Amino acid sequence: MARVVVALGGNAILQRNQVGTIEEQLENVSRTAVQLAAIVKAGHEIVVTHGNGPQVGNLLLQNEEAFRSAGIPPMPLDVCGAESQGMIGYMLQRTLRNDFRASGLLREVVCVVTQVLVRRDDPAFSNPTKPVGPFYTAARAERVSSQRGYVMKEDAGRGWRRVVPSPDPQAIVETESIRRLVESGCVVIASGGGGIPVALDDGVLTGVEAVIDKDLAAQRLATDLRAAVLLILTDVERVALDFGRPSQRFLDRATAVEMRRHLKENQFKPGSMQPKVEACVRFIAAGGQEAIVTSLDKAFDALSGAGTHIVPPADDGVDV
Ligand code: ADP
Ligand code: MG
Repeated sequence: MARVVVALGGNAILQRNQVGTIEEQLENVSRTAVQLAAIVKAGHEIVVTHGNGPQVGNLLLQNEEAFRSAGIPPMPLDVCGAESQGMIGYMLQRTLRNDFRASGLLREVVCVVTQVLVRRDDPAFSNPTKPVGPFYTAARAERVSSQRGYVMKEDAGRGWRRVVPSPDPQAIVETESIRRLVESGCVVIASGGGGIPVALDDGVLTGVEAVIDKDLAAQRLATDLRAAVLLILTDVERVALDFGRPSQRFLDRATAVEMRRHLKENQFKPGSMQPKVEACVRFIAAGGQEAIVTSLDKAFDALSGAGTHIVPPADDGVDV
């Protein structure tokens, strides 16, 4: 039996070609629940975390439209993040519980609205890179930017978009509560969308307009809960070297030292595979036993070998 932190990628909740109806999302979540339930039935403790890109994107669009047409004040990004945690958490919570009950497993499932601490002096704040929300014309971008203080960037010829910082997660504020829930036998859903970014100013928590990478936040969560395994589920079965090139080869198993070297060689795409591999390497460096990247449908099989496994170097003394 192991404690496993499972990070669900976007496709576990919404596929790239879908528009985001509740029916679509629930169907995806059901398929995800089958895999998660199999892991729990095998005797493992799981903590589930997930992305929120499309969902928070839609919330921002809803805010914008409701503001234009009805003057309803738009909510800041941290509040939208919290909304998306509740929405996705509820879908997972209900579906997982139903699935457990159907197979006679009396497990509590609970979603924790999770804040993640970031540093005000994180270099990300002087270089916002993550596009969020609607596309604007140049004129409207100018207006919105001066009204709300947004940083705007032109997005590959498609229009102007707000960009926000993507700071490094320092600590999960609710770690202790999550740990107690896990230890009491609950399946916990936490830190959705990378967590709600907050900063500590003179002992007071304040919401921050930023987006934390969900894979990096998953590592923080896994490390702080002393999980044995970090299981990152996405839409590819294994991590590749020379991805998309004729020399492409998939990795079954590598040490964190080897993966750190591949990261330095820019083998993995920023914003997609790079943060996953970075999360895995950090997890092992902080004492984790095994980090796995695989596809959603291989989640259960991954615990007995499927996917790419990142493990500590043979010599424990090596610095990762
Ligand atoms: P998620 O929603 O699961 O976080 P991402 O789109 O962020 O999904 O990351 C997964 C994607 O990373 C894959 O669909 C694949 O196209 C891409 N990718 C980039 N580099 C690699 C690589 N070296 N090996 C495998 N996949 C890679
Ligand atoms: Mg991603």
